Amino acid sequence: MTTPAEALRLILDRVAVLPPVRLPLPDCLGLAAAEDLTSQAQVPPFTNSAMDGYAVRAADLAEASPERPLRLRVIGDLAAGATPTAAVGPGEALRIMTGAPLPAGADTVVPVEDTRRGEAWMEVQKPLGPGVHIRHAGEDLAIGQKLVAAGRGLRPGDLGVLAAAGIAEVPVHRRVRVAVLTTGDELVDVSEQPGPGRIRDANIHALCAQVAAAGAVPVPFPRVPDDPGTLGPTLRQALEADVVLTTGGISVGDYDFMKGLLEELGARRVFWKVAQKPGGPLGFWLLDGKPVFGIPGNPVAAMLMVEEYVRPALRKLMGFGLLHRPVETAVLEGGWSGRAVDRRTTFLRVVARREGGQLRARSTGPQGSAILSSMLIANALAVLPEGVSRVEDGGEVTLHLTEMAEDH
Ligand code: AMP
Ligand code: MG
Repeated sequence: MTTPAEALRLILDRVAVLPPVRLPLPDCLGLAAAEDLTSQAQVPPFTNSAMDGYAVRAADLAEASPERPLRLRVIGDLAAGATPTAAVGPGEALRIMTGAPLPAGADTVVPVEDTRRGEAWMEVQKPLGPGVHIRHAGEDLAIGQKLVAAGRGLRPGDLGVLAAAGIAEVPVHRRVRVAVLTTGDELVDVSEQPGPGRIRDANIHALCAQVAAAGAVPVPFPRVPDDPGTLGPTLRQALEADVVLTTGGISVGDYDFMKGLLEELGARRVFWKVAQKPGGPLGFWLLDGKPVFGIPGNPVAAMLMVEEYVRPALRKLMGFGLLHRPVETAVLEGGWSGRAVDRRTTFLRVVARREGGQLRARSTGPQGSAILSSMLIANALAVLPEGVSRVEDGGEVTLHLTEMAEDH
């Protein structure tokens, strides 16, 4: 059996980042920048007013006081988007709106709320230094300034900055398309009332959602019965996607056809079975050069496999610099004990929280790989090294923070 660390390495060594594409800015949210992005323009492009008010000469206001308000002649109006036609001379003020270019002659802006005003005049009761309420050309971004490093997932704020910086098309890595197949004669759609011996197909929803949450595009396939005659052609069709993810039928039961069939189709096996609990069979193949993951049908094991192995692979394909969730040490409240699992790594679903600068976690309860309800509260996975079957109350464990922190 392959260890989890080896399995991850074998997978990541065999998936290569997709070639970059240039996409229009609005299509780039969540995608990884394919190269360092630098500003094509200075921002702001021209010196402008930061307030609605009056563009004036600071020197004119030097003597202003509440006892002796200073009155200036208002020579006109300047809206955002307009260009000044006249300079502001001594004793003059130009009414200016936020974002309008600062006219020649003026060196400061008096906010409208600090003035008294009439038809063609305004008054100030205190002096104001030069350069106040003014945004200087290029003070935010300079031409050639580095904005986003290659490999970073683009966030809403990034898109705003890129737009201001004149980048209409962004070199990014596109989303990978992942064919998601669930197998099993017992499965029915969520909308159906399961007949005797039948259960609802939970995995198609959980796994597609995990794929989408990783930034990839899930392509859900119709459920496949445990019948090689149907499974074979469906797998072929699934290869139109970039990655194939199948659940169920990967074990050693009489109706577990996945492994044999994949290899009949020419899939090259990289490994099968990982020494972990929950888990057991996690197969990884390359078929027509495409990664194929065969993961167990048990819903919790399936989600865990996607979290720990498929997600990093998808993120590598999509060019993200960060492939993994944050890893931190936590105190395990209430401890944990399980069956001795020699030479297997155990993943525990836990609820983690920060308290007094410390990360503390607690088991979600029964850890069977069919206890799907644990996923309602789990926000992290505790990883217990091989051979560990017991953790004392207050013992330290390593956590993979699956849902606790935003990553990008
Ligand atoms: P398998 O890996 O096919 O042997 O399935 C292991 C267990 O997971 C069985 O109890 C299956 O009924 C269950 N199972 C398999 N696929 C799904 C699915 N898509 N949704 C919910 N449970 C499943
Ligand atoms: Mg099955």
